[in-house]
Amino acid sequence: MVVILKPNAPKERIDNLLNHFKDMGLSINYSEGANTTIIGLIGDTSRIDESDVAAYEIVERVQRVSEPFKKVNRKFHPKDSIIEVAGRKIGEGYFNVFAGPCSVESEEQILMVAESVKKAGASFLRGGAFKPRTSPYSFQGLEADGLKLLLAAKRQTGMPIVTEIMSEKHLDLFADVDIIQVGARNMQNFMLLKELGRSNKPILLKRGLSSTMEEFLMSAEYICAGGNENVMLCERGIRTFETMIRNNLDISAVPLAKTLSHLPIIVDPSHAAGRRDMIDPLSRAAIAAGADGLMIEAHNNPRCALCDGAQSLDLPQFDSVMENISRRVVFEGKQLVTA
Ligand code: PEP
Ligand code: MN
Repeated sequence: MVVILKPNAPKERIDNLLNHFKDMGLSINYSEGANTTIIGLIGDTSRIDESDVAAYEIVERVQRVSEPFKKVNRKFHPKDSIIEVAGRKIGEGYFNVFAGPCSVESEEQILMVAESVKKAGASFLRGGAFKPRTSPYSFQGLEADGLKLLLAAKRQTGMPIVTEIMSEKHLDLFADVDIIQVGARNMQNFMLLKELGRSNKPILLKRGLSSTMEEFLMSAEYICAGGNENVMLCERGIRTFETMIRNNLDISAVPLAKTLSHLPIIVDPSHAAGRRDMIDPLSRAAIAAGADGLMIEAHNNPRCALCDGAQSLDLPQFDSVMENISRRVVFEGKQLVTA
């Protein structure tokens, strides 16, 4: 971190500031020029809030030269992380597709979808039991009963499951869930992130609706800082001015995440587009951009889905999208992990 001081800052005030940094265990590189005095801070500056430093009267400007995230930073972990879940590898050359309905609706529905997406080549079954809905009057998910149905589908098909948690109070219910999803709306629920950091469960962290990349990675840092480094990032589209699509898939988030972090990055084209006709091209774009996996909504009868029907593929459509995905994954020299 570099701190640029105002001209003519009184020496006594400068000494106070330098002592403050020294007390924090930082080394100092002090450079006094004819017009500008610059303090270079060396060491772990992740605990420093730039705005606190900028608030000193003698400070002109503060510039961060290293990222505030450490555990998830590729600089300190140059190799891609591979997360192992239920005997399946995720990351580096191992490409996984998480597929299933937006919400678990019935035993018949989840079983039918699970059998079908497994056959098509998906490696994980997704399905929401606790649903974060904009309206309190919309279907809220089958909650604990939905989790039971998902676990039954897991037993019956052998497919590991990924499902969203909305509160740390429910963690016990998720004991047999293979990957816990943190939804976009909870990306900055810091109490939840801290609790998941204390667990040993693999976490799929979705990017917040209007989050910057730094905020996204800082949320992943919360989980890792708590001791749980089994974290996967998920780009699911961000809000823009465009109204023809639900969100806007930030495809640049994929290479950016790869540059900044060693964590696997999964792309969810379903919530990004909000419409099923875009799932195929966005999936292929995500693979070409370097994604480690996809999360796709598929339903046995999208027209009657209780949630997100417009973006859900029906089962034959999922089959054909999976064929294109498989071809693209092979083209990129990666291995498609199957259930
Ligand atoms: C979901 O996966 O069904 C979901 C609600 O996703 P997001 O948090 O990305 O909106
Ligand atoms: Mn959904």
